[in-house]
Amino acid sequence: MTGIIKWTTWMQNTNSDLLHLTNLLLRLSLRRFDKGRIYTFIGEVVVSVNPYKNLNIYGRDMIEQYKGRELYERPPHLFAIADAAYKAMKRRSKDTCIVISGESGAGKTEASKYIMQYIAAITNPSQRAEIERVKNMLLKSNCVLEAFGNAKTNRNDNSSRFGKYMDINFDFKGDPIGGHINNYLLEKCSINDGAEFKAVADAMKVIGFKPEEIQTVYKILAAILHLGNLKFSVDSDTPVIENGKVVSVIADLLSTKSDMVEKALLFRTVATGRDVIDKQHTEQEATYGRDAFAKAIYERLFCWIVTHINDIIEVKNYDTTIHGKNTVIGVLDIYGFEIFDNNSFEQFCINYCNEKLQQLFIQLVLKQEQEEYQREGIPWNHIDYFNNQIIVDLVEQQHKGIIAILDDACMNVGKVTDEMFLEALNNKLGKHAHFSSRKLCATDKILEFDRDFRIKHYAGDVIYSVTGFIDKNKDTLFQDFKRLMYNSSNPVLKMMWPEGKLSITEVTKRPLTAATLFKNSMIALVDNLASKEPYYVRCIKPNEKKSSQLFDEERCRHQVEYLGLLENVRVRRAGFAYRQTYEKFLHRYKMVSEFTWPNHDLSSDKEAVKKLIECCGFQHDVAYGKTKIFIRTPRTLFTLEELHAKM
Ligand code: ADP
Ligand code: MG
Repeated sequence: MTGIIKWTTWMQNTNSDLLHLTNLLLRLSLRRFDKGRIYTFIGEVVVSVNPYKNLNIYGRDMIEQYKGRELYERPPHLFAIADAAYKAMKRRSKDTCIVISGESGAGKTEASKYIMQYIAAITNPSQRAEIERVKNMLLKSNCVLEAFGNAKTNRNDNSSRFGKYMDINFDFKGDPIGGHINNYLLEKCSINDGAEFKAVADAMKVIGFKPEEIQTVYKILAAILHLGNLKFSVDSDTPVIENGKVVSVIADLLSTKSDMVEKALLFRTVATGRDVIDKQHTEQEATYGRDAFAKAIYERLFCWIVTHINDIIEVKNYDTTIHGKNTVIGVLDIYGFEIFDNNSFEQFCINYCNEKLQQLFIQLVLKQEQEEYQREGIPWNHIDYFNNQIIVDLVEQQHKGIIAILDDACMNVGKVTDEMFLEALNNKLGKHAHFSSRKLCATDKILEFDRDFRIKHYAGDVIYSVTGFIDKNKDTLFQDFKRLMYNSSNPVLKMMWPEGKLSITEVTKRPLTAATLFKNSMIALVDNLASKEPYYVRCIKPNEKKSSQLFDEERCRHQVEYLGLLENVRVRRAGFAYRQTYEKFLHRYKMVSEFTWPNHDLSSDKEAVKKLIECCGFQHDVAYGKTKIFIRTPRTLFTLEELHAKM
C-alpha cells in the first residue's frame, strides 16, 4: 500500500469540493428521477434512486438492449453493471462481485433480484433442463430468505438482517450451476402471522424441504409468538409464570415437557465446585432469559434454513479437468452507513462493516490503478487520499481495538456495566485521533456525555450510545435452554442445538461474543470479495413516504454523504476519477463539440478526444494514455454529463 494518510489536508481541500459534488449529484439524480430515470453512473458506480412505482424497464426488450454491450453504450441501468460483471467473468474467467448498498428500503433487494433475473435471462441459451432447474432453485431460495427477512416491520432501525451475500457459480460455458448464500444477522426479530408463512412454505417445498421440516419451522415460529405472550409475576420475591397454559402450548410446539420448559424459564443450573445446584432467577433474569430464548430460537432456525438451502444449491460433481474453471459472481446486498438519532451496537457493527468495505475498495482500486497506469503508459503519481485503515484498526485490532476492549469487559466476572466499558474505552483510546467521548463538544445537540462515544468514520462522525453494548455482546442465553432444546423429541429441532449435549460440568469454553463473531464474519466476507473484481450499486431512498413523486433533498443529501459515494469518487480522483477508451468516450460525449458531432475527420479517435477536451477547456484536467483518456476530477465528468444531458 503506497497511500499516505493526510487527514488534515484531506479535510481542508475537500470540504468545498464535497459540497459541490453532492450538489451536482443531487441535481443530476433529481432531474433524472423526475423523468423516471432512476439510474445514474458515477464512473463505474451505478447510483439508483428507488422509484416507488413499477417502471417498465426490466422486460425482455431491455435485457436485449444491454446484453453484451459495454458499460457506457447504453443509458445507465442495473443491467449494464450486471452485464459488465458477467462479461468479465465469462470473457476473462474472472470472479466478480456486485456490491449493492444503501439504507433499509432504498431498493437493494429489488436490485439484487433484477440482477439475478438478468443473469438468468442471458444464460443457458440452449435451454438445458439441468441449468434451468438450478436457475429456478437459486431464484426460489432467494424468495424464501427474503420472506424470512421481510417478515418484519418495514423500516426497522434495529433490523435483524442487514446483509446477504450470494455466490452464483458458473461452468466454463458461463451457465449457472449452483450457489451459496451467507446471511448477516444482528438483532433477531418480531415475526409475522401464519397466513404469510403459507407462501414461504410452498417455496420451501419446491426447493426440497421435507414436510416434517416445514412443519417444524411452522411450530418454531408459533412457539416464538407464544413466548412473547408469556408473563411473569412476583410471588414473595420469586418470579412465577402467570399464564401457565402458554407454557404447555410452547412445550407441545417444541416437542418437550411443560415442567422442563418452566424450569428452564425460572431456574438456571450452576456448578459450584463439585455440586450442581438450581439457582432461582430473579424476575428480571427470567424476563431476560425468555427474550434471549425467543431470539436464539429464531436465529438457530434461520441459520438452519440457510444451511439447508446451501446444501441443496451447492455445486455438486463439478470436474474442473473436464469442464474448465468454475467461476463465480457474488452479489452482496448490504446496509450502508447508518446514522440515526440514537446509534447503538447494531449501528456500530454496520458502520464497522462499511469501513471494511471501504478499505477493500481502496485496496482494489489502488491495485487496479497502478496496473492500468502501467498499461497505458501514464506516469504513476503518488496518490494522496484518506486511508481508513486507522479506523478499521480502531475497531478490530487485537487487544487494543474497541471490540477487544468490549470483549474484555464482558469477560469480567461480577456485574459489568456499560459505563465500565465506556470507562475502559476512555482509558485506552482517549488519545486516538478517531475516537472521543467525554471531551465531546456538543454543538447543536445536548448529549449525554457519560454514555456516548464518538467515532470519526470515513464517511462522517457518528455518536454511539453505550447502552446495551455489554448485553448485546455477551451470549446471554442460559445453558439450560440449550439443553432443553437438545432434549426435544423433534429431531429437526434437536439438530439445531448440538451444544445442548454438554452437561453443566462440561461447559467450560466461553462462546465467542457477538462482536467477535461479527468481526470474523466480516473478515471472511472481505477476504472473499478481495479475490473478485468488484462492481458497485448504491441505492438511495428518495423519501420516507414511499412516494414516487417526492425527492426529499435533505434525506438524499444525507445518504449521498453516508453511502460513501463521494469517497468512492475521491479515492479514484486521487488518481483519476474517470477513464474511458477514446472510442467509447466519443460515443458518449461527441455531441458536446462541433468538431466531433456527428462524426470527426481527425486522424484518430484519440486526436478527436483531444480536440473535444480543448474545446471545453478541460485540457489541464486530463491525461492521454495509449487507448484511454483519464480525467482527474469528477467535476469535469459531471460537467460533461450535464452538457450531455442538455443536448
Ligand atoms: P431494501 O432491500 O433496500 O430494504 P427493497 O429492495 O426491499 O429495499 O425495496 C423496498 C420497496 O421499494 C420495494 O418493496 C418496492 O416496492 C420498492 N422498489 C425498490 N426498488 C424498486 C424498483 N427498481 N422499481 C420499483 N419499485 C421499487
Ligand atoms: Mg432488503
